[in-house]
Amino acid sequence: MIEASNITCAYGSRIAVHDLSLRVSPGEMVAVIGPNGSGKTTLLRALSRTLRPISGTVRLFGDDLSDLSPMESAQRVAVVPQFEEPAFAYTVRETIEMGRHPWCGGILGPEDAAQVERALGEFGLRALENRAFTQLSGGERQRVLLARALCQQTPAMLLDEPTAHMDVGYQTAALRKVASLAREGKCVVVALHDLNLATVFATRCALLFGGRLVAEGPVEDVLASGNLDEVYGTRFTRIREPMSGRLFVLPEVFQLEQRADRPRRVHVIGGGGSAAPLLSELWQLGHQVTLGVAYEGDSDFTAAQTFGIAAVCAPSFAALEGETMERAYRLAQDADVVIVSESPYGAANLPNLDLAQRLREDGKAVYVVSRCREQWDFTDGAATQKISALLASGATEIPFGEITLALASEG
Ligand code: ADP
Ligand code: MG
Repeated sequence: MIEASNITCAYGSRIAVHDLSLRVSPGEMVAVIGPNGSGKTTLLRALSRTLRPISGTVRLFGDDLSDLSPMESAQRVAVVPQFEEPAFAYTVRETIEMGRHPWCGGILGPEDAAQVERALGEFGLRALENRAFTQLSGGERQRVLLARALCQQTPAMLLDEPTAHMDVGYQTAALRKVASLAREGKCVVVALHDLNLATVFATRCALLFGGRLVAEGPVEDVLASGNLDEVYGTRFTRIREPMSGRLFVLPEVFQLEQRADRPRRVHVIGGGGSAAPLLSELWQLGHQVTLGVAYEGDSDFTAAQTFGIAAVCAPSFAALEGETMERAYRLAQDADVVIVSESPYGAANLPNLDLAQRLREDGKAVYVVSRCREQWDFTDGAATQKISALLASGATEIPFGEITLALASEG
């Protein structure tokens, strides 16, 4: 068990990690994420005795790290540093052999040699074994450092962006190997930049920002939280990969100059997947969007989750009524504009049109996306009547392609 309790670390008078506590049990692989300069490397250095915290304690399998000799700590924890510039041009084989030094004191026995062979094979390094470490590419170096750490046969491993310079093939192979070591009972802490690698491989996640632990827990919870967008200063879309059900995050890549000059607050009333493209476009333009009422199984609701859009939802096929409608009404209160997308209507979701009418009567601008579907009214004309009433009370019918322009000139 690695146990950091209230550690604070500083470089001179600059505090780089503030009052941070983290426990990692055998079998866990904890991903440390956070933007550049957030303290990931400093934390790992504190856990490995490279840097002594100015306050707080680190315990490694029960013992205070500062009471252990360098040899004792090297027998418990292996480190893959972010950068390593050796003073001498050791070969790949020699570098990996160093992983055995805490155990054999420099003279390798047959068991040590066997470990080195295994590590060379494990990370595909046989062809490079006589090359100088300093002459390798970044990704090759990282494989050597991982092999050295593997050889060290410690119950704990600390890895600082170990795959940063690797191509995707080696990245996944390396992390798969590390994850299997964790499953076999090691305590693993790994700083990662690629959040989706954290999703796939880590059992838990710690998000650092400004030297503080701002979120910690199951990877999905941390990635789903708004903290992520705040900390990285970018918006993320969140997509659940349908086959594995895993949550992946993608940083927004929309061009800033395409943003609306005046972001509006827009409430969308949709259903049947009709609102998803609208939500996507409005979100990307930077409008503040809400949705409701939507059905849980509907792709409109999935789109809202993808973009972190606040939504009121109801179980699939349920009749929309009562408290659900009231919640949607309250959610729409902040909106400047209401858009009714071209969804199909049946008896169950007809109250969504009453919601639009009520918001119109409150004085909100209401747009109804032109109906271009042949069949959208499954209510024997009740939906058609409600749309007509909406238009009669001042709502505007609009083709989908003109919504952006209309929002720009609205109010
Ligand atoms: P990360 O690994 O998350 O990018 P670091 O732990 O390397 O962040 O750095 C945390 C903070 O400490 C940064 O503001 C960084 O500039 C500072 N820092 C890191 N190393 C040193 C150092 N050797 N001397 C002074 N400041 C440092
Ligand atoms: Mg770092």
